[in-house]
Amino acid sequence: MPIGSEGYRTAEVTLGGVDTSGLNSRTMEARTVDGLYFIGEVVDVTGWLGGYNFQWAWSSGWAAGTAIAERTG
Ligand SMILES: Cc1cc2nc3c(=O)[nH]c(=O)nc-3n(C[C@H](O)[C@H](O)[C@H](O)COP(=O)(O)OP(=O)(O)OC[C@H]3O[C@@H](n4cnc5c(N)ncnc54)[C@H](O)[C@@H]3O)c2cc1C
Repeated sequence: MPIGSEGYRTAEVTLGGVDTSGLNSRTMEARTVDGLYFIGEVVDVTGWLGGYNFQWAWSSGWAAGTAIAERTG
């Protein structure tokens, strides 16, 4: 049974961050601030080790980038 961690020295992913309830899940744009986007590690999304955090970073980045391209035409 785990009794602790090795701390930030060996950490590979962190808990916490921008609350997903404050974001549009299709565009990653903040619900209350027009034109403000959050993606990847800064958002409160944490995956198992094995590629899920990379996938989240790339997928949320793609979603935000696509939305920004659409609005700027
Ligand atoms: C040791 C280690 C191993 C990992 N292994 C895996 C793994 O096997 N599989 C997996 O899925 N995930 C893994 N992760 C997690 C994964 O790397 C992250 O979830 C992912 O890289 C987050 O991407 P991001 O673009 O959101 O943030 P980051 O990759 O942290 O990119 C943020 C960038 O912003 C830059 N930056 C910061 N401040 C400023 C500023 N003021 N101005 C300009 N630029 C700035 C930084 O230099 C950095 O380049 C690992 C993490 C670590 C630390």
